[in-house]
Amino acid sequence: MSTSTPAVPTPPGLTVLCVGNGDAFSRSRYSTSLVLEAEGHRLLIDCPHPIRKMLAEADPRLDLGDLDGLLLTHLHGDHASGVEGWAFAHHFGLQRRGVLLAHPEVAEPLWPAHLQVTMRDLLGADGPRPPMTFADYFDWRPLGEAQPTRFGPFEIEVRRTYHHIPTFAFRVRAGGATVGYSADTGWDPALFEWLCAADAVVHETNLGPAHTPFATLCALPPAQRDKLRLVAWPDGLDVHAGPIPALAPGQRLAVTAAGWAPAA
Ligand SMILES: [Zn+2]
Repeated sequence: MSTSTPAVPTPPGLTVLCVGNGDAFSRSRYSTSLVLEAEGHRLLIDCPHPIRKMLAEADPRLDLGDLDGLLLTHLHGDHASGVEGWAFAHHFGLQRRGVLLAHPEVAEPLWPAHLQVTMRDLLGADGPRPPMTFADYFDWRPLGEAQPTRFGPFEIEVRRTYHHIPTFAFRVRAGGATVGYSADTGWDPALFEWLCAADAVVHETNLGPAHTPFATLCALPPAQRDKLRLVAWPDGLDVHAGPIPALAPGQRLAVTAAGWAPAA
């Protein structure tokens, strides 16, 4: 990772920029994605399509080259549909590999079961080029549940969630504070306790057994509820009628030892 001064400075401490807050079926919102910022570095959290447009609308100063890496929670399309474009943009535009931070159960199927069919074969000036591989596009940094992973200023811990496919929540510590993200998960009290050890938590809420019911989060004790900011709710749910604030695209918040705060 470069240690040079970033083109777009980061705010002091640890901040969260909301890039999208929708779910897979949203008619009016982009799928959920975040950017974590600390000490001149940025980490993209999940990568739905069209991620460059989403970034530009959330903060017009930002483009893919301003992000140090992509932390991918799981392979559902509303979290990973932009990975092909993200990786092609690195290869052709930025002319470097994209740094992918993901658990092996997320990263290992990404190529053979998802991207290989569209990314292996490329034409060069003289015709077909040798087949491209996962390692040609991706600089993969495995995330494990046994110990934290250091990436620049970010110390990353992951924990498996209750979801249809392998999915990993995280806690990231940087700039003197810790933020948690539930990723997609059914209600799991032990996972929630783990997340609440962070100073602030971004949490999903949606329908069905593989997501967390809105009513469950609204009924939490205020001390836990106040740590939360909601994302990924379904169209038709009036999330603003409840006691937990929701994140909006373009919104940037600081994470402090005392919880959420306005970004400087
Ligand atoms: Zn999912």
